[in-house]
Amino acid sequence: MNTAHEEGNTIFPKGEQAPADYFLGTAWVKLLLPNDSILHAQIGNVVFEPGARNNWHTHAGGQILIVTDGVGYYQEKGKAIQVIRKGDVVPIAPDVKHWHGASHNSAMTHLAINTNTQNGIVTWLERVTEEEYNSVK
Ligand code: MN
Repeated sequence: MNTAHEEGNTIFPKGEQAPADYFLGTAWVKLLLPNDSILHAQIGNVVFEPGARNNWHTHAGGQILIVTDGVGYYQEKGKAIQVIRKGDVVPIAPDVKHWHGASHNSAMTHLAINTNTQNGIVTWLERVTEEEYNSVK
């Protein structure tokens, strides 16, 4: 199977398969900028296959998602799922519980820019249930 990168329609290498402890379904993570202790930022590229998502989690320093391909979902605890698409920019405030992933029928790729990393990068929480994932309207 050709990867999206080999097919030439993505910018960055696909990277390594995302850890199953924190991702449901198939996702790929490529670290583009290791945590920089001067800039206090870390950048990764994440590819989610259809149906894949990460666990609920928080970022003590916040995060910015830049969707570069496909259609996906973003949800903050207590709010409805937002459909996110190529070109969307999603700012996530520090300590807001949330998850992100692909939609049911489309893969989704985003850049994940972790900011203020001197405050912490990510705290992983429980899985997103099928009921939560399927609650998209
Ligand atoms: Mn996040």
